[in-house]
Amino acid sequence: MSDCLFCQIIEGRIPAAMVHQDDTLVAFRDINPQAPLHLLIVPRKHIASLNDLSPEDDALIGVLMRRAAALARAHGYEERGYRTVFNTNREAGQTVFHIHLHLLAGRSLAWPPG
Ligand code: AMP
Ligand code: ZN
Repeated sequence: MSDCLFCQIIEGRIPAAMVHQDDTLVAFRDINPQAPLHLLIVPRKHIASLNDLSPEDDALIGVLMRRAAALARAHGYEERGYRTVFNTNREAGQTVFHIHLHLLAGRSLAWPPG
């Protein structure tokens, strides 16, 4: 999608601090980090929100979650802990309509979230 920010990052048309790339997904640092480690794990496939998932995406979501765990481990947060979040639509604060899994770590994260 040419007008999608994350599609443009995936295509290399907008720079990002990449930490991982493979055939299925990319992961890069959030430009406005909310924790010492704040990564976005983004499938190459454009899907606007969780509301737009289809059964054929089931394996893709598993791949995103396992990559989040691998990146948390690689950055030393496997034991301390970390949070993984998909925001969906207005009241959850979704601002980019290409699904992305937030990975947050490196500080105590309040619960319930704000
Ligand atoms: P959400 O609010 O869940 O849709 O998350 C979108 C996230 O994308 C926010 O945390 C933003 O800080 C982040 N973001 C926006 N533009 C960029 C960018 N150019 N590079 C990296 N992260 C970005
Ligand atoms: Zn997109």
